[in-house]
Amino acid sequence: MAKVFAIANQKGGVGKTTTCINLAASLVATKRRVLLIDLDPQGNATTGSGIDKQTLEHSIYDVLVGECNLVEAMQFSEHGGYQLLPANRDLTAAEVGLLEMKMKESRLRYALAPIRENYDYILIDCPPALSMLTVNALVAADGVIIPMQCEYYALEGLSDLVNSIQRIGKLLNPTLKIEGLLRTMYDPRISLTSDVSAQLKEHFPDTLYQTVIPRNVRLAEAPSFGMPALVYDKQSRGAIAYLALAGELVRRQRANAHTANV
Ligand code: ADP
Ligand code: MG
Repeated sequence: MAKVFAIANQKGGVGKTTTCINLAASLVATKRRVLLIDLDPQGNATTGSGIDKQTLEHSIYDVLVGECNLVEAMQFSEHGGYQLLPANRDLTAAEVGLLEMKMKESRLRYALAPIRENYDYILIDCPPALSMLTVNALVAADGVIIPMQCEYYALEGLSDLVNSIQRIGKLLNPTLKIEGLLRTMYDPRISLTSDVSAQLKEHFPDTLYQTVIPRNVRLAEAPSFGMPALVYDKQSRGAIAYLALAGELVRRQRANAHTANV
């Protein structure tokens, strides 16, 4: 049964999409079956997976409003090795359309139910807002992965985000947990980065991933070729960091499963 993780942060430009694409490809490299869901109308995860968002026959929008089933909308990312539910600007309309629908917060959860057993991991790339789309992701997910940059306002924004996730969880998905905090675009030469990083370790010792994602130009270049860094330049520091993250994520989950069984 797949673990479903929403990759969320209400801030834009913190590395959500980069994390989705590269974590998905890294999990595939460790022989996991992965589905990536693009839930952002900007469709960056779609383009970055090598799929043309302008010419989609079906997208996640059709799935959410019940116009087609999930399998019909799925596409295979050749370079990433994972399945993708693509998105484009049509999804903006879903924000409004969903408000009029029954079970509007659970549309994605119900759409995923029949295919969950076909995957090991389902990753959801969220838009940079706590919108109805993000609520759908949080209701469908087992856990939330929060990518963040170690900058001055990061901690403040983080406590707002964690509070909102907990509130939504309590109302609509009581088993939802914060799966992990991920430091992205990390540059240890900046002293503020180390300060914020130290505070994160202090406040979130169990949720903070040990793996940090460095600032690496290969990670920024790869999406324009529709590739994860692992294929674009497998020796790059960015590609190696995301492989390490996949390893840490899998180990953490095994450890959790073990504690749950004893
Ligand atoms: P979000 O999805 O949160 O808006 P993105 O993943 O799109 O953020 O990242 C924002 C920008 O920063 C993109 O241009 C991306 O290529 C770049 N980027 C993301 N992570 C890194 C990194 N570790 N090193 C260098 N550039 C990065
Ligand atoms: Mg994004």
